[in-house]
Amino acid sequence: MIRFDVIVVGAGHAGIEASWAAAKMGAKVCLISSNMDRIGHMSCNPAIGGLGKSHLVKEIEALGGVMAWLIDETGIQFRRLNTRKGPAVWSTRAQADKDLYARAAKRIIESESGIVCKEAMVEDLLYREGRCQGVITHLGEEIWAGAVVLTTGTFLNGLIHIGTLNLSGGRLGDKASKGLSQRLLDLGLKRGRMKTGTVPRLDKKTIDFNVLEEQPGDEPLPRFSIFRQTSVQKQLPCHVTYTNPHTHQLIREHLHESAMYSGQIQSIGPRYCPCIEDKIVRFADKDQHQVFLEPEGLDTAEIYPNGLSNSLPLATQVAFLRSMKGLEKVEVIRPGYAIEYDYVDPTELHPWLETKKVPGLFHAGQINGTTGYEEAAAQGWLAGANAVLSLSASKDPFVLSRTESYLGVLVDDLVTKGTQEPYRMFTSRAEHRLHLREDNADARLLEKGYELGTVDATTHSMYQEKKSVIESCTQHLKSKRFTPTPATNEKISALGLTPLKSPNTYWEFLKRPEVQWSHIEMLDPDLAQHKNPFIENIEIASKYEGYIAREQVEISRSSKDEHTVIPKGFDYQMLPSLSNEVREKLQKVQPHTLGQALRISGVTPAAISIMSMYLKKFQQSKTSTQENSQ
Ligand code: FAD
Repeated sequence: MIRFDVIVVGAGHAGIEASWAAAKMGAKVCLISSNMDRIGHMSCNPAIGGLGKSHLVKEIEALGGVMAWLIDETGIQFRRLNTRKGPAVWSTRAQADKDLYARAAKRIIESESGIVCKEAMVEDLLYREGRCQGVITHLGEEIWAGAVVLTTGTFLNGLIHIGTLNLSGGRLGDKASKGLSQRLLDLGLKRGRMKTGTVPRLDKKTIDFNVLEEQPGDEPLPRFSIFRQTSVQKQLPCHVTYTNPHTHQLIREHLHESAMYSGQIQSIGPRYCPCIEDKIVRFADKDQHQVFLEPEGLDTAEIYPNGLSNSLPLATQVAFLRSMKGLEKVEVIRPGYAIEYDYVDPTELHPWLETKKVPGLFHAGQINGTTGYEEAAAQGWLAGANAVLSLSASKDPFVLSRTESYLGVLVDDLVTKGTQEPYRMFTSRAEHRLHLREDNADARLLEKGYELGTVDATTHSMYQEKKSVIESCTQHLKSKRFTPTPATNEKISALGLTPLKSPNTYWEFLKRPEVQWSHIEMLDPDLAQHKNPFIENIEIASKYEGYIAREQVEISRSSKDEHTVIPKGFDYQMLPSLSNEVREKLQKVQPHTLGQALRISGVTPAAISIMSMYLKKFQQSKTSTQENSQ
């Protein structure tokens, strides 16, 4: 009998992080995937990060995951987004060389001694004695483990649509997973169907870039990893073109052949990443849409026309593409298509991503109704870590709250409210955005990763060093002052800044919106001598100190409820003073904390007070029973 601690099914973005986290915690992991050549394959846009998503990538790194390293190593264009807005919503985005990314993912996974890779299609689960204990592959092989993490992406009963043509597949070029979805249904898990789509891939040689606007990346390159320096790939520009009234007319004329509009696909797709058919119907007054032509890699001719996902017949795709500037002679290497797939209702999950009905079975990624590599990877890390914790009866699951991470927000949204459409992360989903920034992901999470064993000692000591540099620099800025002498004010005016009226600490001076770190260095050359790599963290802490402190007060106010854990299997019938409706809702969701209970629609603050009082009494009587028995 083959036996592991943890089996991870699927080697996409969730599967990579799940197996990596579990192995780092010392587990013996079996990573099974239907296609081992496509570890970390980017099914759609070859890019990582973007608004809200880059926060997740940085959190994954702070917890010990690998996505930031992979994209830093294989990125061919890096950009900082939203810089005109406040630092809470600054985001990093990079385009990857798609093949290099997948190769780097394969290399890192195969180099980890705790992970054994197997290529096989998992058809069934080994459910014994009320627990998921392993899987059965298409070869009839039984593989046993203490816990199983499913990260099957868009593969469960995947059905690809190109116009009126439909093909079974997990994505173009990969087989769909057939048996597993039925097994999940048989185990009582609620299933749904969603859809997503991708763009045609274009042949670079057939595009006239000379007539198109070029968009380079940013310099210096904004990287993802805080602690790991990787080599940099050659950087490539993107180009911009636009749809036009003729493009729209062609698409409109063929809407009846679009899988999306012919009624062939009835499931719900991603609201924030609509297909071109959808954009043209919904925004009928617009006569153009911007399209970024993004290279898929350094050594490939494939170009990704971002914004043109569709499920029209191939001939129509070619025709509408050729109506656009620069694409008059374009050839299509791969068609755009839509895919429908099964997902499992995420309210079936605990906040540690274990299914409530099948102990030992964890779900992460697109199977939970999310869309996006980053959302998948973040869940993967959490499920992998918790799969290991579940092996030991004395260990509590690892749960992140909404107040400390976007990962906490993502999981809380999914398990508390569920999702009827593919869920993607946005900064607007978080209540405490100023606290949950990209730049402080390590300060929020790294110690937790270190305690779990997913962050190594070297990274931990680099983090300690960073912390101490920031602390001593902050102390210095708070203790040193500029005095409004004529000489100082002359220097300040020469920098184009308003002169001082009264003495000001450097810290207070830096708070002014127009003052940058470079100004302080010019005024105090001593400071310039000690190159500080963490200036951004210090500037943000100074400029937003008041707002951050206010948010911290709100966080502390809500943290009592967030940290009051409701015992597993709590019987809400014991609380007759709650209404039937509230009791039913609580019973169904089985919230992990009072904070989560409060976010269930229909659960009132009054109900939470009743529960809080009951839990306090319950805790007191448990403590006194324990004391009496000692
Ligand atoms: P995946 O990356 O899909 O990985 C699933 C893995 O599971 C694969 O390795 C597969 O081989 C394996 N597998 C599946 N079933 C089995 C089984 N039974 N046994 C063994 N192995 C199995 N995201 C966006 O953010 N925006 C978009 O516009 C977008 N468009 C998309 C369009 C298409 C056509 C597709 C297919 C995906 C799109 N995505 C998009 C989604 C993005 O690809 C996913 O969100 C992300 O890859 C999910 O990661 P994952 O790890 O959950 O699954």
